[in-house]
Amino acid sequence: MSTKKSLVVVANRLPVHRVSSRGQRARWETSPGGLVAALTPILKGRSGSWVGWAGTAGGAPRRFTHQGIALHPIGLSRQLVEGFYERFSNRTLWPLYHDVVRRPEFHRGWWKDYREANTRFAEMTAKVAPRRATVWVHDYQLQLVPQLLRTLRPDLRIGYFLHIPFPPLELLAQLPWRRELMEGLLGADLIGLQTKDDARNMRRAAVRLGGAHGRGEDLAVGERRVRVAAYPISIDVASFETLADTPVVLAKSFAFRRRLGLDRQVILGIDRLDYTKGIDTRLRAYEELLASGRVDPARAVFVQVAVPSRERVEEYAEIREEVEGWVGRINGRFSTVGLTTVHYLRRSLNPEDLVALYRAADVMVVTPYRDGMNLVAKEYVASRTDNTGALVLSEFAGAARSLTAALQVNPHDIDGMEDTIHRAMHLTVEEQRQRMRSLRRVVRRHNVHDWANRFLGDLTG
Ligand code: UDP
Repeated sequence: MSTKKSLVVVANRLPVHRVSSRGQRARWETSPGGLVAALTPILKGRSGSWVGWAGTAGGAPRRFTHQGIALHPIGLSRQLVEGFYERFSNRTLWPLYHDVVRRPEFHRGWWKDYREANTRFAEMTAKVAPRRATVWVHDYQLQLVPQLLRTLRPDLRIGYFLHIPFPPLELLAQLPWRRELMEGLLGADLIGLQTKDDARNMRRAAVRLGGAHGRGEDLAVGERRVRVAAYPISIDVASFETLADTPVVLAKSFAFRRRLGLDRQVILGIDRLDYTKGIDTRLRAYEELLASGRVDPARAVFVQVAVPSRERVEEYAEIREEVEGWVGRINGRFSTVGLTTVHYLRRSLNPEDLVALYRAADVMVVTPYRDGMNLVAKEYVASRTDNTGALVLSEFAGAARSLTAALQVNPHDIDGMEDTIHRAMHLTVEEQRQRMRSLRRVVRRHNVHDWANRFLGDLTG
């Protein structure tokens, strides 16, 4: 069957990372995350391989096999990692694609490095892909790979999925290399986006900048057809549900609640420490709720988990200082001996602690200024197996398109955020149940395996 053709995944990072413990030889371990978990079984069933960067600058390790998947590491010098990844990907494309919440920088040297790195990924893929294989390229770091690869290997079937938002033409148009970028993407046979709006933005840019023609999801690019459509990503719903009901998670969740104060409501934020996540305004809204007396710091506690991210990039050091400033100010003003107002954890959690916190939280606040999907929102819902809890969700997260039963907010509207967080804290159990049941129905409809199968089915079918 055509869907069983060999599959090559191309992503910035390999699905493994190096772990070294004292006295032992370093070894490779599978990296956490939904994408890796979703693609691993598919790759195993199809003599699959994965092309990606191993995560450290310098020469690449030799190809090796991990859990039945052939891994092909790409070597990138320190200079190339900086130019391609830290700069062009994360200081040009990331802010540009997230509605310019920070000013993107445009530098010709960075672009040159981006093109060079994309060429290396394409060349490695061209070298290792079996004849007429299916190739699935992932995310904003590799937008030139589809066309580069098509030129080298016209026999391949090429899919591309963008995990982050795709900006409206009016913003994309700022990019000096917008045409090359669109041509790079349009080398794919199928382009998947997180939402219909993203797909519309991409189609418009394809027509205006990439020489494509057509109005529907199928565009004509020269002699070829390129399909551009929405494939909203999901999570492994069953594994969150199962984990949420294990005795160890239930015990941990109760222990968290006891330590935070059994008579206090728990409000939770969990984000990578990224300026797109709106952690700053969320804390500001919470401070105003405390200052106005609408929330009593003795009866409520805010837990903010901030997972360290891209710490070599300047804007990330700045947002860390800002967030820590907010936490310090709020705690200085409202905490009392033994009753901390905001618990701030700058680290990543293991899956048990993560799900235990989801279970412990009366209110989950997910308030990005812009987010491709936001899996945390879906994970919270999947973990609420008793149908209680309240989700406050930014209307600018991709997840808001389907999670319509959440309490939606505009994260730029501080008064609105205050009112909505306050409302979430006062939902009756009946309304919590009504909303959570509806959210859970939506999340359970598609898991991440359906997502991958649907994309690959459309690509190869
Ligand atoms: N996550 C994690 N450890 C943590 C906190 C979060 O592994 O301590 C995971 C979380 O379960 C989720 C992912 O990180 O799957 C974050 O994905 P999301 O789409 O919310 O945001 P992103 O970080 O991709 O922008």
